[in-house]
Parts: sequence; C-alpha cells; structure tokens
Amino acid sequence: VDGRAREVAEAAFGETVGLADFVTWSEWSLARVGFRPSNCLAVVDVCRDELMSPVEEAIEECWGRAFQVGSLAGIVLTGRTGMQAALSHVPGEDGRHRFVAFCLPHIGIDADGTVGHVQRRGMHRASAACGALAAVRDRWLAGEQGLDPDRILDPDDIEMSLLWRRLSARLDPAEAPSLAELTVLTRDVAVDDLDRHIRLATGAEPVDVACISGVVVHLPDGEDRIAGVLARVTIDGVEHPLPH
Ligand SMILES: [Zn+2]
Repeated sequence: VDGRAREVAEAAFGETVGLADFVTWSEWSLARVGFRPSNCLAVVDVCRDELMSPVEEAIEECWGRAFQVGSLAGIVLTGRTGMQAALSHVPGEDGRHRFVAFCLPHIGIDADGTVGHVQRRGMHRASAACGALAAVRDRWLAGEQGLDPDRILDPDDIEMSLLWRRLSARLDPAEAPSLAELTVLTRDVAVDDLDRHIRLATGAEPVDVACISGVVVHLPDGEDRIAGVLARVTIDGVEHPLPH
C-alpha cells in the first residue's frame, strides 16, 4: 500500500475505509434497522468506468444482483420511469419495500499523489479517473460555463451533455473547480437526484430507503478505498442517520 496516495486521499476527502470493510459495515449496520439482502433491492450508482467493477462485484456479492442507475461519472439519469421499474423488482416479504442505494463516484490517485490519475493494467501512462469529470473541468476551463446548457445538448453525447448541464449550474463561474470538488459535487447531486426519482416513482405502497454515499478512491496497486461516507435510512418517511 502506498502511503503517499492514501495521505492525499484523506487530506482531500477525510477518513477512508477499505472496500471489503465498507461492504461488511453496510450489511451489519443495515441489519439493525431491518434491511437485509433478502428483503432489499440494491440500487447501484457508479460511473461506467470498468475500474468500478470490483466495487460493483463486492456490493452484489453481499446484497445480491443490483439495479444499475449510474451514467458517466455516476450522474443519475434513471428518472421516474426507471425507478418505477426498480420498484417493481423490490421484494416485499413483510409488506414493506426496501431499497439500499449506493452512490459512489470515483477518483484515482497515483503513487506520486497526483489526484485524478490512475495506473491501469497494461497501460504505460497514467490515465484519468474520473475521465468524465476531467472533461467537465476542461469545459469549465474552455469557458463553456456561461453557455445556455440547453443549447449544447448533443444527441451523440447525451450523458456528457446532461452531466455538464447538471454540474455547471452548481459551479462558481469565477473559480475553476478541482477534480476533488467535482467528485464530491457529483456525489451530492447524484444523491439528490436519486432521492427525487424514488419519490416520484413511489405510489401508494411505502418504500423505505437506505442511502449510502461516498467517493471511491483508486490507489496504486489496485487498492480501492471509500472516502467521505455518508449514510442514512428513511423508514416510514422519517430520516435517521446511519452511524459508521
Ligand atoms: Zn468515471
């Protein structure tokens, strides 16, 4: 384990936890509030990057097959219709429906401590993670901040157009966002959007939702850690923090 990269991660995002411990914690802490793999549908919001496969696999190993809601960078474009579909897959053994949602945007940190870089297998040079958020930053630097986002909806680049539209509205026009800031912002808007889509999809039957979010940090040698974990459950419409 490279100490430098982890130090940089914790300076940027706070305390980190290893992937296996993170998943184990999600299982035992949710069991105490009645969420078990047998009575929940896992909803996973992660970037499309194949670097996220180990995280998806670890979650599915514990929580079972997941409903995928992530687009580029982990922005949530599922909408009411997508969440209605997910809702119709939720087990309801005791008359209650439960989602356990994981919103986990990602970032790489290389052995030199460079934020946004990741060394991929078989590639000589470091590449960007998250590449989509690096592209958002490039757009900001290119001065696209002031453009009407509705006019730049590119049919051949829909996810990127909508990612830019969603994030740029929240960016300071005077100060370039760092990749770390964009990653945290993506987590925040993804949680908001997922919450709203679930609310819009919910019909007469109540749905209890556990929402766990954080930033996946890809460290050297393929080590993934989760930083800045936030977790809460909403049961019968009442929100409770989930200690971790
Ligand atoms: Zn990505």
